[in-house]
Amino acid sequence: MTKSRQLFEEAVKVIPGGVNSPVRAFGSVGGTPRFIRRAEGAYLYDEDDNAYLDFVGSWGPMILGHSHADVLKSVQEACQQGLSFGAATAAEVDMAKLVCEMVPSVEMVRMVNSGTEAVMSAIRVARGFTGRDKIVKFAGCYHGHSDGLLVQAGSGVMTSGVPDSLGVPMGCTKDTLTARYNDLDSVRAHFARCGEEIAAVIAEPVAANMGVVPPAPGFLQGLRELCDAYGAVLIFDEVITGFRLGTDGAQGFYGVMPDITTFGKIIGGGMPVGAYGGKRCIMELVSPLGDVYQAGTLSGNPVAMAAGIAQLTILKEHPEYYKSLNGMGDWFYGQIAGRLEKAGLPWQMNHVGSLGCLYFTSQEVRDYEGAKTSDTEVFAAYCNYMLREGIYLAPSQFEAMFLSLAHTEELLKEVLERITIFLQKI
Ligand SMILES: *Cc1c(COP(=O)(O)O)cnc(C)c1O
Repeated sequence: MTKSRQLFEEAVKVIPGGVNSPVRAFGSVGGTPRFIRRAEGAYLYDEDDNAYLDFVGSWGPMILGHSHADVLKSVQEACQQGLSFGAATAAEVDMAKLVCEMVPSVEMVRMVNSGTEAVMSAIRVARGFTGRDKIVKFAGCYHGHSDGLLVQAGSGVMTSGVPDSLGVPMGCTKDTLTARYNDLDSVRAHFARCGEEIAAVIAEPVAANMGVVPPAPGFLQGLRELCDAYGAVLIFDEVITGFRLGTDGAQGFYGVMPDITTFGKIIGGGMPVGAYGGKRCIMELVSPLGDVYQAGTLSGNPVAMAAGIAQLTILKEHPEYYKSLNGMGDWFYGQIAGRLEKAGLPWQMNHVGSLGCLYFTSQEVRDYEGAKTSDTEVFAAYCNYMLREGIYLAPSQFEAMFLSLAHTEELLKEVLERITIFLQKI
């Protein structure tokens, strides 16, 4: 029996499902989750000493590759000074300045401990600012696990078989309206019906929790215009896309400015960090300056800030990294698409920059309905085949593939060969 298997058997006795976040359980692809001991560059190493070329990157944060020397050094130095003070620190000022400089739509920012917390807080501020209760979200977009947002929520919720969650009172979701991604008419209909009650529209500017679904031309701009017309706040949830598509995220990539942006994942460099920020006139409502309450004992934690600052500083100083990472994504995913065509397979290779998703469906994937047409049994076979070949993909159809700066062309060519063999076998 492998060590992973042994650990999993122990884990399920004391942790629900053996994991601390559902997708890690490999439930939708079968098999035993690999227990990871360490990671370096583009590789994960499990407890049985197997190496895997990693396309998850801790679900996005490890954009520089695992165990980047500068990030580790910065964290180690911060640790020497103490782990937490629960008081203001210089690092928090540095972090806030970095975010405001890198993301022009953000004039003030508040640090929190996760993406979930960032989104939950952003929505509270939007409601406080507008004095309205309703929010519009898109089917298949995931915004963390807070009550009001667990409606057609994509990601782990998509494969767990329950559309929503037990334990969420009806009252918590009655103000959550759902629209269809890439369908402005579905948003317009909500505004036409109750535009004066809508506080915010929240969207992933590239949907990356139902696989990867790029925004159709004009979609994000259309959301901007609808929000302006009705005085609603536009929130871009850039927990995945922030600092991934460019220093200024998807909003810079597509040239559409939201009022509030939420961050997570990359911003923490691998530590538990989230943030929300935006226009000064909105952020001034956050306590203690304003009357929207939001707090956190460990928010702005010095060790977490050290990791985030180190990673963001490297990204800010090297805008060319984005050119090479996005270029690598275009090439790699383009190669997969080419091989599908050559093999006469009608499957869909969606991608934006370094984010990609291969769907096993002949239908174009533009929204949640389209994503759900993918054959998850073929995905499971694909995922397990790749794992046996030492390639670690997200163990769910409805997650993105993440490239990092440690993924060289040479490594990716190897992966393409494996994919070609899989396509021939199927
Ligand atoms: C991961 C994710 C979240 C939730 O972040 P956590 O840190 O897991 O709480 C929210 N929104 C998006 C778009 C995400 O990808």
